[in-house]
Amino acid sequence: MSTAADPAPRRYALRARLVASPAPGRGFVGDGAVIVNGARVEACGPWRELRAQAPRDVRDLGDAPLLPATVNAHTHLELSHLGLPPFRARGFLEWVRWLIAQPLNDASDQDLDRACAALAASGTAAAADIATRRPLDTHRALVRAGLAHVVQFERFGCQEEPPLPPVPAPHLALAGHALGSTCPEFLQRAHAWDKARGRAFSLHLAEHEGETDLLAGGDGPYARFMRERVLPEGFEAPRTSPTARARDLGVLDASTLAVHCVHLSGEDIALLRASGATACLCPRSNAVIGVGRAPARALLDAGVPCCLGTDSLASSPDLDLYAELRALLEFTPLSAPEALALLAGNAARVLGFADLGTLAPGALAAFSRMPSDILEALGD
Ligand SMILES: [Zn+2]
Repeated sequence: MSTAADPAPRRYALRARLVASPAPGRGFVGDGAVIVNGARVEACGPWRELRAQAPRDVRDLGDAPLLPATVNAHTHLELSHLGLPPFRARGFLEWVRWLIAQPLNDASDQDLDRACAALAASGTAAAADIATRRPLDTHRALVRAGLAHVVQFERFGCQEEPPLPPVPAPHLALAGHALGSTCPEFLQRAHAWDKARGRAFSLHLAEHEGETDLLAGGDGPYARFMRERVLPEGFEAPRTSPTARARDLGVLDASTLAVHCVHLSGEDIALLRASGATACLCPRSNAVIGVGRAPARALLDAGVPCCLGTDSLASSPDLDLYAELRALLEFTPLSAPEALALLAGNAARVLGFADLGTLAPGALAAFSRMPSDILEALGD
């Protein structure tokens, strides 16, 4: 279903066997309907309650549940010209070695347009996109596709900070790559920059055990690789977990989008919960790279808000957030309210897409349809 605003404002109703409840934290409304007025949702609820006010134009969508359009909380569109590596699950360092040997700057406008079209076609209305090389080009492609977005200009390494790209202010945020690959001061400055402007601060956190080893002062292959290539001479390991390090640096709070969150202890999960940060899970990227599985059930049970990201096409087969949810369901039982929050609500909230991620009155009329196999896999 198209996620673009209707060019000719008019009033119509969509009816489906299941419609995402407009109330936060709830699941589906049975025999539900959405009344659309122009580009916005006018009302959402049970058909029997809306019938009297419904316009004559009623479109029955049948069995497939009607949801808000999805929000992809972690992409790297500038890598959309790459495909998956010719191997699978060899760990983070092997994947990085492969990645940096690729022509990283070669994405064409057509590559970016194709990726954005795939996002829209899968029912996504908004994306948070990490950019290190092509922030303006990815912004322009997202605009051409009509997708709400924030371009997260990423700080990496310990060299001089690059100047801000000329991406229009409402679409620009700063991101940190990770705790073992970006200087602490850069992370702190990026976090403060975002916070002053009400933006989410995105950081790859606890993605792989090499990062844990590096911060703990270990001497594993990843730690050696980073010491040789990225970290300044005299780098001293903080001897904490990545999550504790983020907390200690002051970059873990309710504005933080902690991406991956695979290698967490119980203490780390409690830290995340106390911070108010949102965890962005990318299960298919984790599987392709071979870094393990995020403790998604433990995060959800602890009350950590979670959302989903596909990551780039260099570690994910496509940009379909429903496919991402399907992969998560393979090892994480989920309720319908949890699935709705993962697909749209939590990412929209932390990223500041105020009129997306919900079917509440006033929201943009941007929808997606949940595949039936996913619906069947959800618990109560
Ligand atoms: Zn990433």
